[in-house]
Amino acid sequence: MTSSAAQQDLAEPHLRQVLAGVGLDVEYVRAEGNTLHRLDENGRSVPVLDMMGGFGSLILGHHHPRIVARAKELLDARVPVHAQFSRHPYANEVAAVLNDIVHRELGTTEPYHAIFANSGAEAVEAAVKHAEFDRVQKVSALEAEIVAHLERTWEAVRGGTARVPGDVLAALEVDAPADPLAGFDRAAAEVQARNAAELARPPLFLTPEGSFHGKLVGSVQLTHNESFRVPFRSLAAQSRFVPLDDPGAIVKIAERERRHLLDLTVTGDRVVLTERPLPVFCAFVLEPIQGEGGIHPLTAEFVREARRVCDALGCPLVADEIQSGMGRSGAFFAGSLIGLRPDYVTLAKSLGGGIAKTAVTLIRASRYRPEFELLHSSTFAKDGFSTQLALTVLQLLEADDGAVYRRAAERGARLRAALEAVRTEYPEIVREVRGTGLMLGLEFHDQSAATSAEIRELATAGFLGYAVAGYLLREHRVRIFPTGSAVNTLRLEPSVDLTDAEIDQVAEGFRGVCRVLHAQDGRRLVGA
Ligand code: PMP
Repeated sequence: MTSSAAQQDLAEPHLRQVLAGVGLDVEYVRAEGNTLHRLDENGRSVPVLDMMGGFGSLILGHHHPRIVARAKELLDARVPVHAQFSRHPYANEVAAVLNDIVHRELGTTEPYHAIFANSGAEAVEAAVKHAEFDRVQKVSALEAEIVAHLERTWEAVRGGTARVPGDVLAALEVDAPADPLAGFDRAAAEVQARNAAELARPPLFLTPEGSFHGKLVGSVQLTHNESFRVPFRSLAAQSRFVPLDDPGAIVKIAERERRHLLDLTVTGDRVVLTERPLPVFCAFVLEPIQGEGGIHPLTAEFVREARRVCDALGCPLVADEIQSGMGRSGAFFAGSLIGLRPDYVTLAKSLGGGIAKTAVTLIRASRYRPEFELLHSSTFAKDGFSTQLALTVLQLLEADDGAVYRRAAERGARLRAALEAVRTEYPEIVREVRGTGLMLGLEFHDQSAATSAEIRELATAGFLGYAVAGYLLREHRVRIFPTGSAVNTLRLEPSVDLTDAEIDQVAEGFRGVCRVLHAQDGRRLVGA
């Protein structure tokens, strides 16, 4: 049945129009490996090389035969998809395999507990919620200690064994009355008021500039791009963004944001006022290789400093491996290549093998709050189908002693060399090729001063990368996109089965782009 409403464009029509503007609103009807098949104007299927790979969800390609076979097997066997509140041995197996990998790559023998989710942003939000649950309990314990101290101090003052000295009253900016009991009352009231004001403040997050951690209400505040984040800032706790090239800024930000609660205790016959550090930061969340921010690998120095400051603050370090993880970097965790030692890890995208939608948050046992499991849940998370497919994906990745990781590194190096060759030929057009393994970015020089009016306008409007994407699709049958936060950088995230011929096709495509930009042929770029 075709309803009349189906004739209209109701599913995100504005986005479709934007894509249409640069020739990207094509329909794909079949997908296999690194190939998507689009329908042309005559309804014929045309193969397109997919270098986007589902925003990094297809480390094993579209419809990997083993994953498809497993999916069919699960459905044929009527394996329960939804059996919430029961034993989930396969989820446990996924967690066990992930623990083996964590122990091998992240230099720890500590178990990590697993909380499942349905999407990347949801896994990040589970991490954030758990971290906040932990912080709030630490704050409550501190508060309880301060209340107990206050009671004991009151007893000492009332019993005449201690009094509040003038310097404490002065520090609290309260007048010194003649009566010691009144002095205590005023000091205690001021301490309580100041502590209440501190406790009412929301927590903060630390995250690098350029970071992307999702677009849900909480996670979007960890996403640096202002246009995504700022309109929604009143909905959730805020982040402090650390410049990537200045690891020393982490400690400076931590110092600047330092807060404390006041504590009244007794030493000898004097009441003493002390400052107790308040855990302000809920978590430090980072991507070992920034994806959406334009493919920026973090340095070992940056993550070492992040670890050091987190340890000093007692705040958890969260590695968001949603895009960089699952083997794309040449190791299962990209963080392992730079010595990252996280307390939490998030995974999604390729975990579902390109078919299921699943995600997981791993949390170090020594930081884990088991009660969280009774507070946080989702109907679809940890479902039987997705989790069992995730297990198959992990088995494929771990097979042959990590052959997939070696292949990602080797294919990535080859692809990178091909892109570097293009840059060497057109250094005035291609600014930089960067990334690790099969997570690469090619950045074009800014074209906002181009002699071609079309190119200039596209560049000024932030659409040059999309126009390049349209050109590559139209003329070279290559599907590739810029990132939302780095509009001149095209992101390449193909599967490990990338062939030499496919690499040549991409490089040829970029050569074509360079020729067009070199000739300032705006009409050719936009297909006019
Ligand atoms: N974190 C990172 C590092 C990501 O790359 C993404 C998605 N691009 C997300 C979180 C959010 O994942 P999702 O789109 O599945 O919510």
